[in-house]
Amino acid sequence: MKTLIKVRYDKLKYKEYITYNEYKKTFDFGYPILDFVTANVKERYNNMIDSSKELENLFETSDTYLCKIFYGDDYKRLLKDEKHLNIKILLDDIEKKQMMYSTLINFTFFYNADKYFYDRWIDRFIFICNKLSYPIKQPSFSIIAESLDNNLNISNIDDNTLKSLDDEFLNYKVSNRNLNTSEGFIYSCESIDELFSLFMITIFERHYIISKCQNCNKYFVPFKKNDALYCDRISPQKENKTCKEYASKQPKGLIELYRKIYMKKFARVNRNKDNFTYKNDFETWKETAEKLKSDYKKGIISDETFEKWLIDSDK
Ligand SMILES: [Zn+2]
Repeated sequence: MKTLIKVRYDKLKYKEYITYNEYKKTFDFGYPILDFVTANVKERYNNMIDSSKELENLFETSDTYLCKIFYGDDYKRLLKDEKHLNIKILLDDIEKKQMMYSTLINFTFFYNADKYFYDRWIDRFIFICNKLSYPIKQPSFSIIAESLDNNLNISNIDDNTLKSLDDEFLNYKVSNRNLNTSEGFIYSCESIDELFSLFMITIFERHYIISKCQNCNKYFVPFKKNDALYCDRISPQKENKTCKEYASKQPKGLIELYRKIYMKKFARVNRNKDNFTYKNDFETWKETAEKLKSDYKKGIISDETFEKWLIDSDK
């Protein structure tokens, strides 16, 4: 039996609602799929075997919600029958998907080459999907929810209300780059691929981007400010603080200087949208700056080296 979930993105509240088996869960936009991409379930599984921990709990962490939905039943069945070899195959499948998604995301948002040809993110996304023969899969069904309010309980929508989407729906939207359509759709997704495609299309529609958190290094959607550096996940350093809160408590100084220059360059690109020199300068700067910052944080380069580079790069 196929897994069926209903999903709705709330434009105003930056939330997403996922209903599965009549249970509804609310997330900040983007976290379920982006958490899926970086959840290292295979390593956790091996660690659990080594330390004889309860294997049933593999998909019970906050970043494995989609693993549980799309792979949980199979996993439990295999576990019960003690088919450990097949579990490994299942975890390999998950890993392959994660690698595919992170490649698509990285090429779309973090890769600097070909920027003249693939200036827009959606063009890069389509390019890389074609290159890797990854089909952009549209969800099979949807219901227009324009007239319904934002608190709509999507678990109450029965499957008969859902309409089959026009076969060409996403193809049309994608090929015409006609993404600014009405907001209110509830989709039913049968596979994680459908959910991923839907998520990416929503990103382009809303002019969001995907960033990497400067603290935990995981993907996130900085929906309020495209230049936000930190995500809202629990920080790896302190359990009672998010990455954003943790970073704001860290000593300022060089990171602050980095941020200032970042903002300056970012604002310049934003003010001069047609100026490719500024844009390229910013992209190139960002790439080097991020590498140096990470080296600086790890202690590979000294304060002085990082500071000198920052000051020079701002001239
Ligand atoms: Zn983070």
